[in-house]
Amino acid sequence: MNGLEISPFIKALPKVELHVHIEGTLTPALRWKLAQRNHIKLPYATYEDLLDSYKVTYNHRKEVNGDDGRPTFLEAYFAGCQVLITEDDFYELGMAYLSRCADMNVRYCEPFFDTQAHTERGIAAPTVMAGYLRAQQDGATRFGVQSNWIFCFLRDRPLSEGLEAYAAARPWARLANGKGLGLFHAVGLAANEFEKPPLLFEEGFRLARQDGLHVTLHCDVDQKDAADHVHEAIFGVCYGNGAERIDHGLNALDRPELVVGLKKRGIGLTLCPHAYHRRQATEVLFPKIKRLMDEGVVVCINSDDPTYMHDVWVDGNLQKVWTYCELSQSDMVQLVKNGVRMSWAEEELKTDLMKELESVDVFC
Ligand SMILES: [Zn+2]
Repeated sequence: MNGLEISPFIKALPKVELHVHIEGTLTPALRWKLAQRNHIKLPYATYEDLLDSYKVTYNHRKEVNGDDGRPTFLEAYFAGCQVLITEDDFYELGMAYLSRCADMNVRYCEPFFDTQAHTERGIAAPTVMAGYLRAQQDGATRFGVQSNWIFCFLRDRPLSEGLEAYAAARPWARLANGKGLGLFHAVGLAANEFEKPPLLFEEGFRLARQDGLHVTLHCDVDQKDAADHVHEAIFGVCYGNGAERIDHGLNALDRPELVVGLKKRGIGLTLCPHAYHRRQATEVLFPKIKRLMDEGVVVCINSDDPTYMHDVWVDGNLQKVWTYCELSQSDMVQLVKNGVRMSWAEEELKTDLMKELESVDVFC
């Protein structure tokens, strides 16, 4: 189930990543370092104990599966966030991910971030965003990795709180009127989706659209009402026009009209295969991904929360799809092209990346 060895072909492939939660890239090493620096006591006596805590397979959803004493993924994720205090901490988190991108030949990415998980701990929203903005700028100049970030509403919090967070974050967006600091260019959703359908956040999406921002919609896999959530993402939100992208959305396969809707509206899916592989057998999961591709749904491959998912990053996710879907090298180039097409990068960057992908040597 865990990571495969990365082949030279996958390693060398130029890549983009459109579905990664920045706090889900916080490595145990950086978490340990920030805990020491900020004098935060972790519930682990040694660094080795901390490392061991990541080896658990989390209880996906207590609401769905019952509480068997194991932490859920989200509990582990938000526990990790406790060490992020100063602007420098957020900067280091962003830079660590962008540096890793450079190592994996990821040229462009659109990381998700939120402020609500931090303001509730007493961290001011500008502290979070100033750190990320600096990382966005330095990541581009130092590592050559371009990024446009995505502001998320936490969907298990009230809409009113999310709207306040958006209002506070708005000066950091790249607004249609040419104003704004340029950190983020889209909004999306994060956190627990249980009984939190996309339309609950319609007001937030409308405000973002008015500001000229893009809208992407997180539709968790095999969550309660998963197919209904995908339906709302395609046909319900943004005045019925639908989101521009869906994150995950694998349950579109549950109903034929959802697959038709995705194709008709040109909505692509940002898939994170290893996230599903933790809970679905190889022979069940990968034929589903292949079916989506064969049906003509546009999909791209991403990592989601790599440090909480057995350290499988975007290259490892691409490797899994290549191996288990038995794809050709040209199929893999096509998957990355899909990501470029689905991205909201500047046109010039998209054209350059497409040209580079055209020139990748494929032997099968
Ligand atoms: Zn996600």
